[in-house]
Amino acid sequence: MSQLKKVRGFQDIYGEDAKKYRYVVETARKIFERYNFEEIILPFVEDVSLFIRSVGEETDIIQKEMYVFEDRGGRKVALRPEGTASAVRAYIEEGLYAKGGYQKLFYEGAMFRYERPQAGRYRQFHQIGAEIFGVDTPLADAELIKMVRDILDSLKIDVRLEINSLGDFESRKLYVEKLKSFLKERENLLCDDCRKRIERNPLRVLDCKIEECKRATEDAPVILDFLSERSMERFEKLKEYLTGLGIDYRINPRLVRGLDYYTDTVFEFITDKIGAQGTVAAGGRYDTLVKQLGGPDTPALGFAAGVERLILLVENLPEEKPVVVVIPLITDFNLESLKTAEMLRKLGIKTELILKEGSLKSRMKLANKLKGSFVIFVSEKPELKDMMTGEQEVFDNLDDLVEVLKSRLS
Ligand code: ATP
Ligand code: MG
Repeated sequence: MSQLKKVRGFQDIYGEDAKKYRYVVETARKIFERYNFEEIILPFVEDVSLFIRSVGEETDIIQKEMYVFEDRGGRKVALRPEGTASAVRAYIEEGLYAKGGYQKLFYEGAMFRYERPQAGRYRQFHQIGAEIFGVDTPLADAELIKMVRDILDSLKIDVRLEINSLGDFESRKLYVEKLKSFLKERENLLCDDCRKRIERNPLRVLDCKIEECKRATEDAPVILDFLSERSMERFEKLKEYLTGLGIDYRINPRLVRGLDYYTDTVFEFITDKIGAQGTVAAGGRYDTLVKQLGGPDTPALGFAAGVERLILLVENLPEEKPVVVVIPLITDFNLESLKTAEMLRKLGIKTELILKEGSLKSRMKLANKLKGSFVIFVSEKPELKDMMTGEQEVFDNLDDLVEVLKSRLS
């Protein structure tokens, strides 16, 4: 029979990478909690129209990346390609806006996009993300960016911040007209996709990854020259706050993001260390989306980071707890060994009970393989071996041994 394989673009995350995965997610979680964000656990499957209406018809996600299928009840559903749309849907559907004040939510979990798999790009990937609903101050923009910076700094990941403003509705309209006529003049230099985008969604052209398109649009008009006074003020304030916080940034006037819902502030954290897939975290404001999806007029902003890309950049995991290995000297001491292990685990000690039978030598080999810091031999009189020094000590009873072990571990 042929061997079963995982589906293209999907991954098993195990060993060191699984540790890094946990480390990334838990570090982010700690920081979300420090900023007083609350978790929201969102469904993996949504009505397909949610994404079409939020992410935008002309985006890559909708055009070619979404996993869409009909369920047995004939509903047209999609595996979620991103988290913001679901968060907005929940914010409206669960009436979170009625709670008053503003809402700060975070999420984590798998996302699905039918993309060409390569390092840092998979068909199932994982994101950590956060959203703030109900505040339109630049203070909120600064705090969100600071929070992402804190997460990346805690992970000791070296990435640079790029920011831009896409302006509000008014600024954008003016700009889009200018951009359109610029693109029309260079139509023959653009890829097929971008040629179609000129009318339907010209901003997307600036986001095209194809070299020819990048070159053809090198001196395209930039949105920053078209910002309304209000948008300009917000951008100035944001820059002032970031500078005041000591957060370095670069203004990238071509930064438009791959989704349609953004307004005003957009940002990306980027590295050159992992090839073309260099954006590790990205986000911005989306002040019109909640209303667009049928909710009350609510300004909002958020970000998402790709866990797999962060894992590629995490160099050192925090030191792990030492392992204590328990070995029954002979099988008569198996039950006693189970109890010994139980006692250690209750004390919070990471304990490995050697489950295999065989010669003492073979089981010591296992203890070495498991990188045990201490070994306890269970017998009439328990023995403690320090694997670093090789020193071995016999005790009258287990309690005495555990006292000594505890002091050595602390
Ligand atoms: P890219 O330009 O790399 O395709 P994007 O603009 O599509 O990214 P977003 O939709 O903003 O990305 O998602 C936020 C983050 O999620 C990205 O910065 C990246 O870290 C991660 N991400 C997006 N798509 C994938 C993928 N297919 N595999 C792994 N991570 C991904
Ligand atoms: Mg993409």
